[in-house]
Amino acid sequence: MNNEEFRRYGHQVVDWMADYLENIRDYPVLPAMQPGDLVDRLPVAAPEGGESMDAILEDFEQSIVPALTHWNHPRFLAYFAVSGSPPGILAEMLIATLNVNGMLWKSCPAVTELEQVTLSWLRQWMGLRPEFFGIIYDTASISSMHAIAAAREMADPEARTRGANRGLTLYTSEHSHSSIEKGAITLGVGQENVRQIPVDGNFRMRVDVLRERMEADRLAGLKPFCVVATVGTTSTSSIDPVPAIADVATEFGAWLHVDAAYGGAAAVVPELQGILAGAERAHSLVVNPHKWLFTPIDLSVFYTTRPEILRRAFSLVPEYLKTGEDTRAVNYMDYGVQLGRRFRALKLWFVMRNLGHEGVCRIIRSHIGYAQRLADLIRSHPDFEVSAPTPFSLVCFRYRGSDDDNRALLDRVNASGKAFLSHTVLNGQFVLRLAIGNIATQWEDLEEVWDLVRQTAKALATEPHSSASGN
Ligand code: PLP
Repeated sequence: MNNEEFRRYGHQVVDWMADYLENIRDYPVLPAMQPGDLVDRLPVAAPEGGESMDAILEDFEQSIVPALTHWNHPRFLAYFAVSGSPPGILAEMLIATLNVNGMLWKSCPAVTELEQVTLSWLRQWMGLRPEFFGIIYDTASISSMHAIAAAREMADPEARTRGANRGLTLYTSEHSHSSIEKGAITLGVGQENVRQIPVDGNFRMRVDVLRERMEADRLAGLKPFCVVATVGTTSTSSIDPVPAIADVATEFGAWLHVDAAYGGAAAVVPELQGILAGAERAHSLVVNPHKWLFTPIDLSVFYTTRPEILRRAFSLVPEYLKTGEDTRAVNYMDYGVQLGRRFRALKLWFVMRNLGHEGVCRIIRSHIGYAQRLADLIRSHPDFEVSAPTPFSLVCFRYRGSDDDNRALLDRVNASGKAFLSHTVLNGQFVLRLAIGNIATQWEDLEEVWDLVRQTAKALATEPHSSASGN
C-alpha cells in the first residue's frame, strides 16, 4: 500500500467509524448467529497474493460486522458495559501508527513519561496518596496477578528463586472476581490455599470470618500473605469494608490489594471518593479505565505504594537490555512479566484531556443516577424485585417467577437485538444484571429496555409452558 492509498483508505475508514458511532442504535446489540457461522463463511486458507483494500473492507462489512457484539452500543448493558470514546479511538489509531514499544525508557521515552504523567493525574482525580506508583497493564486480571506476586515477594523473598508455595494462604470474598483465584493458580499459590470468605446480606466480605480464618491458618503453621478486597464486585457491585479489612491485614502483616477494576472509576467524582475509604492503607489497587473511564479496551491501571517490592519480584535484566540511563529512568519492564509494552497511556491522556475532570464526573454521575432511577421503577413494580443494593451503575433484579422464567426473559430480551443484559446467581436465585457504563447511554435507552423487559415478561406469562402462568 503506498502512502496515497493509505491516505485514501484512512479517510474511508474514519468515515465508516464516524457513521458507525452515529448510527450505532441501528445495529442489533447481539449478532443473530450460531457458533462456527463466521468460520464457515471465511476461506480456510490465507490468500497467496495480496488482496485489494476494497475487497477486504467489503468483507469486513459483509462478514465481520454481522458477527459483532456491539460493545459500543448504548444498550449494551451486560457484564460491565464499556466505551471506546471518540478521543480514545483517535488515540488508538495514532498508537498503531507510531507502533512504539515502551519496554525501557530508552526504547521510547514518551511511553514511559506519558504513563507517569497520566497515572499521576488519575491518582489525583481518585484522591489517592502521591506514594502510589502507577503502571499500566492490559487487564485487571493481570494487574491483580502482579499484586499477588508482589505480596508473595514481601512474604517469602526466596519464592522467586526456589519456586513453589511454601505455606502461603490468600484471602478474598466469595464474590471476588475469578481473576484473583486465577492469579493464585498462575503463581503456584494453589486453589487450595485461596480462602473464599463468605459475605453478609449485602454481599460484602465478612471481616469477622476473615479474621477467624487467618488466625486459624496461622495457628496451623501457614502464612496468610495476601488479602484482596473488592470495591465494586462483579455480581452486584458491592463494596467490601476495606477499612476493617485493612486492620486485619495489618495485624497479620499481609499485603492488601484492592480490586476496584470497575468501581474505582467512581472515585474521580469528589462526592463519591468515600468508596475508596481504607484504600489509602492498601499496598496496591487496580482500576480499569477500559471499564468505566471511556478508554478503549485494553487499559488497566495498577497502583502500588511498594514499587520496590514489585520490582524485586520481577526485575531480570539481560545484557542486551542494559542502558546508560538505567539509574536515572523508570524502565517499566522491571515491574512485570511482559517486556514489550504498547503506548496505552496515549489513549488515557487523550480521554482525560478531551473530557476533562468535569466531563468524566458528569457522565459517571448520570450513569449512577440512571441506575437509581431504574432501580426505583423496578422496586415499585409488583412483578419485579431489586436483588441487591445499587451503589454504582449496576442494577440486579429479577422477575417474581421461577429461575426458568428469568432465564427465558433474559434470552428473549437479548434475542430481540435491542439490548444485551447478563445474569448472575444471588442466594441461589437466577438474577438479571443491567450495567450502565456506555458514554452514549441516555435515560431514553433505559426506559426502552425497561419497557421491553416488562412487555417480554408479560408475554411469557401468558404462554402455556411458563410457570408464571400458573401451569
Ligand atoms: N475485577 C473485577 C471486579 C471485575 O468485575 C472484572 C471484570 O469484569 C475483573 C476484575 C477482570 O477484568 P479484566 O477483564 O480487565 O481482566
